[in-house]
Amino acid sequence: MLNAKTPSISTLLPELIQLETLIERLSQHKSPVPFHFDILAHIPCNNHFPQNHQNSLPLYAIHLGTPDPKAPLMLFVGGVHGLERIGTQVLLSYLHTIIERMTWDTTLHHLLERIQIVFIPLVNPVGMAKNYRSNGNHIDLMRNAPLNSQEKTAFLIGGHRLSPRIPWFRGHNSQQMELEADALTRFVTDLTTSRTVTLSLDCHSGFGLKDRIWFPYAHSAKQAFPYIGDVFHLRHTFMRTYPNQNYIFEPQALHYLCHGDLWDHITLQCLRQQQVILPLTLEMGSWRWIKKNPLQIRQALGIFNPMKPQRIQRVLQKHIVLMDFMINATANYPSWFNHADNPYYKQQALSRWYKKQQ
Ligand SMILES: [Zn+2]
Repeated sequence: MLNAKTPSISTLLPELIQLETLIERLSQHKSPVPFHFDILAHIPCNNHFPQNHQNSLPLYAIHLGTPDPKAPLMLFVGGVHGLERIGTQVLLSYLHTIIERMTWDTTLHHLLERIQIVFIPLVNPVGMAKNYRSNGNHIDLMRNAPLNSQEKTAFLIGGHRLSPRIPWFRGHNSQQMELEADALTRFVTDLTTSRTVTLSLDCHSGFGLKDRIWFPYAHSAKQAFPYIGDVFHLRHTFMRTYPNQNYIFEPQALHYLCHGDLWDHITLQCLRQQQVILPLTLEMGSWRWIKKNPLQIRQALGIFNPMKPQRIQRVLQKHIVLMDFMINATANYPSWFNHADNPYYKQQALSRWYKKQQ
């Protein structure tokens, strides 16, 4: 029975309400831009919110732009780790901006005739409603893929099978992939099938002082991701165009290795089927927010999210340039992608990021 003391789902998960409001707004929209949404999975949650009579929470994907399955695709993903709410909030704020621009901005209409943009801002709704890093089953979705590193991984952080009570739990060996991870993998590998290129940005927070953009691999420091030349060229284009930003681009393996990384898994699945995906992860430097406001470390959310309203506002603003760039880079991919026959950028990437391996 719902009583005055039972928090509602809208109190526990305002991000879901915000997302559904944006979908509603799109449904009533008079824009010429094609739009539809999918529910990739219904994530069971009845044992978490018994008093709310809530059996499941939806995992939404919102498609904007041309339905042509061959069109270049930009994928925005967030909320894989439930505690890192700011990633979802950055994407919801950006989706809001895109929806408003769709009502008046003919430049955007033309752009969306050429590309498709897909938002999956809340991959782990149960984890976020519970303020867990993991999903509702205490499994870390970014350690849950059936992929083992053959090199030395970081202790615990790199994924383990010891106990669901310790963060970074991968799940038991015999278990299937979790519903959220499996749904995202199937959806992305299916969506990339006939496209020349797919770019993605998965928004996280919690590592270091600076904002980093990580690319695969997370399971190996010895192997280089096949598209490092293209990533280097993309980075070069970004830096040249926006010289006053301070993102650090690097392979995740430069910091630590882990088992079960979902983007490594999706990348390898795509490579096997000769599909192209360049999955980037935005790792927002949350230690900077703690440095400015040390008391916020007393709250679990304070370790991963800005807490003061003006700082939240600044973070929501800050990444618009990056996300606009990625959309434009997707539409203009011939200017930076697939220089395989030109070893220049690959060599640059190898000497910048893989010096030890050479
Ligand atoms: Zn994360």
